Amino acid sequence: MESRSNVSLKKASYSLVERRKPLSPSSVIVIGSGFAGLAAARALKNASFEVVVLESRDRIGGRVYTDYSFGFPVDVGASWLHGVCKENPLAPLIGRLGLPLYRTSGDNSVLFDHDLESYALFDTDGHQVPQDLVERVGQVFQEILDKADKLRQENTNDMSVAQAITIVMDRHPELKQEGLAHKVLQWYLCRMEGWFAADADTISLKNWDQEVLLPGGHGLMVRGYRPVLTTLARGLDIRLHHRVTNIIRGKKGVEITVENGKTFVADAAIITVPLGVLKSKSIKFEPRLPEWKEEAINDIGVGTENKIALHFEKVGSPMTLKRCQTMLLLGSHSLS
Ligand SMILES: Cc1cc2nc3c(=O)[nH]c(=O)nc-3n(C[C@H](O)[C@H](O)[C@H](O)COP(=O)(O)OP(=O)(O)OC[C@H]3O[C@@H](n4cnc5c(N)ncnc54)[C@H](O)[C@@H]3O)c2cc1C
Repeated sequence: MESRSNVSLKKASYSLVERRKPLSPSSVIVIGSGFAGLAAARALKNASFEVVVLESRDRIGGRVYTDYSFGFPVDVGASWLHGVCKENPLAPLIGRLGLPLYRTSGDNSVLFDHDLESYALFDTDGHQVPQDLVERVGQVFQEILDKADKLRQENTNDMSVAQAITIVMDRHPELKQEGLAHKVLQWYLCRMEGWFAADADTISLKNWDQEVLLPGGHGLMVRGYRPVLTTLARGLDIRLHHRVTNIIRGKKGVEITVENGKTFVADAAIITVPLGVLKSKSIKFEPRLPEWKEEAINDIGVGTENKIALHFEKVGSPMTLKRCQTMLLLGSHSLS
């Protein structure tokens, strides 16, 4: 491992070498052209670094992609700016582009990114769930979370959110809901699971609410994120269809090989591929990543989150809420 880490990049023989000369002490390869990669590449280029971005797909953006097939923008990946405030690093760019945001909730919504008035909830027979019921059950859900928080303070060992809710419900049977109210309560739990892209039995009670969100509430990018991406990407040297397979780090820099055998060298690399890619070990690191980093990659979970967009020709009864409407099927996750 030691000897590999000392590999001399100048001496390495390449099947095909894409020139990045024994680069000026300021060359960087950025792997991945999602927001992280584009932001890093943009900052480096602005600081006069020589930058190449290697992207495996045929497009930039990664988990951010605006689809226009309905004739209007629909973000099938990220669509919210969480934390509509000046401190948000995307705020200056969004402001400069004059892109409007639709604020769906303030900071403290129990639905995480929506206020209840943004929602029209329907049962599986197509009947609208009365809003006062949705609000009442929302308060019950908040109460369950408050009691789960107390449970967390009583216990030094971690447990899952699902386990905590079961304990809370056993201790406070008055919080149990019946019939439609029970389904609405399940929907609140599903919203939480959706936020984390994880089932409640894999969400940590100790850590679930420890993320620090910027203030300002949640704003939907009504014209989509594409203009932000294309502005960040403008003028960058981005190589699409360049799937990185090997990264060798030596004393004099990094050597990076892509699927078709091309090799790139530079002084440094910034790796912004998703955690799932790191977990799959489809990129070989030489020398191996430090043990603590490999452990972290193994230990942190990843979930799958998809969106389904439905386009209605006209908005008819009973979907006549004044704000955005969401068709929800009350699911079968258990929250007893
Ligand atoms: C459905 C959905 C909705 C979301 N909604 C929101 C939201 O509303 N607001 C919000 O803030 N966040 C949201 N997120 C999360 C947000 O999209 C991500 O946190 C963010 O886009 C991650 O950016 P990234 O650059 O770190 O990674 P990615 O966007 O995943 O970019 C990584 C890039 O690396 C490339 N890559 C992978 N492997 C290789 C390889 N071997 N070689 C070269 N390139 C490679 C990928 O193709 C990709 O382009 C959502 C995510 C999903 C899936």
